[in-house]
Amino acid sequence: MAREAAPSPTVWAGPRKLLRRLRDVMAGPGDAQDRLDRIAKLIAGDMVAEVCSIYVRRAGDVLELFATQGLKPEAVHNTRLRIGEGIVGAVAADSRPMALAEARKHPSFAYRPETGEEIYTSMMGVPILRGGRMLGVLAIQNRTQRDYTDEEVETMETVSMVVAEMVASGELIETSEQRPADGIGIAPLRLDGIKLNGGLAMGHAVLHRPAIPVGRTVAEDSETEKLRLKEALASMHKRLDELLAQADAEGPGDHIDILKTYRMFAEDKGWIRRIVENIDNGLTAEGAVVRVQDDTRARMKKVDDAYLRERLLDLEDLAFRLLQHLTGDADGTRAHMLPEETILVARNMGPADLLDYNRSNLKALILEEGSSTSHVAIVARALQIPVIGRVKGILDRVEPMDPILVDGGNGLCYIRPGDEVRSAFKASMRMFEEKRAHYRAAKDLPSITKDGVEISLMMNAGLLIDMGHLQDSGAAGIGLYRTEVPFMVRSDFPDTATQAELYSAILDQAEGKPVTFRTLDIGGDKVLPYFHEMQEENPAMGWRAIRIAIDRPGLMRGQLRALIQASNGRPLRVMFPMVANADEFVQARAMLDKELSRAARRGLPLPSELKIGAMLEVPSLIFQLDALAKKADFISIGSNDLLQFLFASDRGNPRMDGRYDALSAPVLNVVKEVVHRAQQNGLELSVCGEMAGQPLEALALIGLGIRTLSMSPANIGPLRDTVRACTVSALSDFTEALTHRPDRSLRGAMANFARDHGITV
Ligand code: PEP
Ligand code: MG
Repeated sequence: MAREAAPSPTVWAGPRKLLRRLRDVMAGPGDAQDRLDRIAKLIAGDMVAEVCSIYVRRAGDVLELFATQGLKPEAVHNTRLRIGEGIVGAVAADSRPMALAEARKHPSFAYRPETGEEIYTSMMGVPILRGGRMLGVLAIQNRTQRDYTDEEVETMETVSMVVAEMVASGELIETSEQRPADGIGIAPLRLDGIKLNGGLAMGHAVLHRPAIPVGRTVAEDSETEKLRLKEALASMHKRLDELLAQADAEGPGDHIDILKTYRMFAEDKGWIRRIVENIDNGLTAEGAVVRVQDDTRARMKKVDDAYLRERLLDLEDLAFRLLQHLTGDADGTRAHMLPEETILVARNMGPADLLDYNRSNLKALILEEGSSTSHVAIVARALQIPVIGRVKGILDRVEPMDPILVDGGNGLCYIRPGDEVRSAFKASMRMFEEKRAHYRAAKDLPSITKDGVEISLMMNAGLLIDMGHLQDSGAAGIGLYRTEVPFMVRSDFPDTATQAELYSAILDQAEGKPVTFRTLDIGGDKVLPYFHEMQEENPAMGWRAIRIAIDRPGLMRGQLRALIQASNGRPLRVMFPMVANADEFVQARAMLDKELSRAARRGLPLPSELKIGAMLEVPSLIFQLDALAKKADFISIGSNDLLQFLFASDRGNPRMDGRYDALSAPVLNVVKEVVHRAQQNGLELSVCGEMAGQPLEALALIGLGIRTLSMSPANIGPLRDTVRACTVSALSDFTEALTHRPDRSLRGAMANFARDHGITV
């Protein structure tokens, strides 16, 4: 079929002129409906479209046709679409523009006879957004087939901001109606998310970033707006520098690296250029910032890559800061003053924001987005407040000062809880506190079984701020320091000097307790944003950890050099991850030997004592422990990886969750074999995977002969109690019997044993 020619784009005048004319209409005479009708007519004319329609979101999540140029006038206020229904509904649901040369062929197309739209072929719709909320949809239609250009979509998006100004003003519908009505402010709600940091908290909702009133969006004079932008950027940069200096003064930590990266993004040329372009297109500085921010949000929805999302989030967040500087709330006074017992609720937030608040009143954080590696979660963990993430739709459901209960450990929150929930929660909080106090008081009690066997309880760590828990948990040392974690929160590879400084600070803070540094365990699910070598089909079994270290010796040698420097004459323990055979260990050890000779040649102080070990995570290594023992001092069972390879069951796949149990004969037999071989070969042995910190699993490990367990700091107190309540002789006999049982899981059997022997788990 021959295509009819689209109207010539040269007729179209661009956004600047159109914006001016829209502004004149908005400021002009007539009631709101009149002005909206004229706006639809102007846009249709300017965009060279036969139809322009404005849909406004009403209570109950429907979109009502409020004005049209081109569709039948009787459809106005009669045509209503649900969000998600038809193309207009799809634009609203995703808050993303759609441009379709043949709208009828699109699966979302829904024909509404009362509008008379059957004669139109092409359609473009853009969301009407304000402060992250979707207020409606602006659409144009053409009779002939037309390929809307990217510039035209851009223009419509810019124009929709002006329409948003009108909707948000409450002239068309009450502003209260612009929120979805599902019992807001009345019904109690329980919302689920994911655990980002454990703990319980009770308080009142404070919304992070309440929408900043933007005011004018159409500029009188672009040059003045550019000047305002320049001044606001300068004052924002200054404030960020002050924040950095303040954080620096509070002591070292990985959050400083995060803040520095954030500060760097505040200078991002592309971001600033896009704002300036929007000013050139006729928007005010505020309007341009909001426009770019809306864009960033739309891009975020499409991006899965964790690193990119984090960067986009930083940009979105910077936009808020910039708006504060433009609207004269540069100190963010509104935001900084948290009332007592605040539960902060945010779609997402940057790390700098969290540090900006008066933290003493901040009890917990709830995010609509966020992930365990997000920068704000890392900072929040350092502040020791409970955090839950991915709580879908919370911002639409919570009003400022609503009472909220947060259960970080279970990733749940209760909004406007009833009396029963509240009192049960209070009881849990009391118990939680009592337990914490009990563990604190018991931290120096020896971790010895009733029959006198000492079990060494060590701690796993990955950030400098974790080190504080070494003393308050009473851990005997750091059994596993995951050196890749500080690498993961940065924007580039730290150089040797930076690494040496960090490792040295860790040894200082350990105050003589042993620290086992595991060399970089990257690859698999641990992605360094700046180290994208290739996409792998099966990264868990791919190029990771020691394999990368052997192929890229520069990386590992730099790290080993930093570790030797940091030890500065103190004892040093180094462990290589994912070792599959003795040869890999030999190669890694040769690198360490080279670095030791290099240090010796230069007269640098060598470690007073050096212990070198391997993680046992790949089953093949079990059968080469005798060869390994000739070169290694110790091994540590990384049960997280070992189990995934033993059962061929992806540790990160939720569908595999709970399918195989660590407490089962195959695992117990493997551990038994490793204990036997390690003893035969004189290898020191520990377990440092998740298993080590779980009371029932730990009992089985102790029963099999494991004497050193390394775990998250929160598990140490409970495990000390478990150890002190058990008798190894009885436990060994029982665990040995378990290794012959055919059951899928031995959890129940072990729980019964614990109960019968008075061991609380
Ligand atoms: C393990 O695999 O058990 C382990 C401790 O290492 P990670 O969890 O860091 O892979
Ligand atoms: Mg591992």
